[in-house]
Amino acid sequence: MRKEFLPFSIPTIEEEEIQEVVDSLKSGWITTGPKVKRFEDDFKAYVDSPFAVPLSSATAGLHLALLAMGIGAGDEVITTPMTFAATVNVMLHVGATPVFADIEPGTLNIDVRAIRKKITERTKAIVPVHFAGLPCDMDAIFALAKEFNLQILEDAAHAIGTEYKGKRIGSFDTVSVFSFHPIKNITTGEGGMVCTRDEKLAEEVSLLKFHGMSREAWKRYSAQGTPNYDIVLPGFKYNMMDIQAALGIHQLRKLDSFIEQRTKIAEFYNAAFAEVEEILTPSAAPYAYRHAWHLYTPLVRIEKLTIDRDAFMAELKKENIGTGLHFKAVHHHPYYRENLPVSPGELPHADYASERIFSLPLFPKMVMEDAKDVVEAVKNVLARTRK
Ligand SMILES: *Cc1c(COP(=O)(O)O)cnc(C)c1O
Repeated sequence: MRKEFLPFSIPTIEEEEIQEVVDSLKSGWITTGPKVKRFEDDFKAYVDSPFAVPLSSATAGLHLALLAMGIGAGDEVITTPMTFAATVNVMLHVGATPVFADIEPGTLNIDVRAIRKKITERTKAIVPVHFAGLPCDMDAIFALAKEFNLQILEDAAHAIGTEYKGKRIGSFDTVSVFSFHPIKNITTGEGGMVCTRDEKLAEEVSLLKFHGMSREAWKRYSAQGTPNYDIVLPGFKYNMMDIQAALGIHQLRKLDSFIEQRTKIAEFYNAAFAEVEEILTPSAAPYAYRHAWHLYTPLVRIEKLTIDRDAFMAELKKENIGTGLHFKAVHHHPYYRENLPVSPGELPHADYASERIFSLPLFPKMVMEDAKDVVEAVKNVLARTRK
């Protein structure tokens, strides 16, 4: 058995990131300033998006995106139940009604045929989540959006570096939102980015992110700025700080090498579990893409074991292997069970995955020996819990 605990995720923070933060601290400019602007420009170039707005989190980005898209009371928004609750919480914040469409059982991405079934006269937008870094079928989603005149908001929290048919997520004619939380593919501590090709929408998000103060308001304390300002609407406080962007600037340069390492580990897991009957590995999609491998999320077939998924994860911990849960389906959480109930059997694939899914360690600093320890631990647990 492995001697030291292997956590499910550790960010890779190196000397460049640390020195850049120190530089910000010593410069006296800590919050939104030149480094946020640099990170915004670098990110736009990386994903190939003409406009990007850096924010304090992806949750903030999803919230402001919905507001800027004009979504509110009386509107329905269709999304996947296999996501982090933030995707859905923000719909409630703007007064809209979330509607769940079931997932594909293999990729765990939203099933476009299921979206079609949930469209009503009140439907205003589709919010696909590129689960674990595997892109949703954007062509099919665009076709549906066009047919029913719907907007598309991509929850791209897992998809920094993901490509669909040769194009980066972030470059499509939608609104897309990325996360830089420490477990995501790159981190700024906390942070998010809204990307769009719509200049007006980007301006609206910019305005909303900082009290409703006109653009470039942060310059009012610099030599070029003036201290006066105008509030043109009641905004929020969702801006990114320079000390966050300091991390992001260096993280972004390493993203492709991070994804390369993540891919090696994920492919090793796929091969190692291919013949293990109790483990269902994530499926590939039938179109060209680059997987960003934010997460490695197999399903454990608990019907073949004497324990449930939570106990299975506890057994892995005894083997010194950390795991994560991404995700318990949103409609299984108490708030949603009570306030947004779905009928039994309405989301069968999400229900199946929700009870069986778990996340294995996957981060760029992992070496192949770590991955081998993980596989061995899974096999050990299966050997003692098989029916
Ligand atoms: C992490 C995550 C978010 C929220 O990101 P934050 O930056 O923590 O606000 C939203 N959606 C999904 C699918 C996520 O995994």
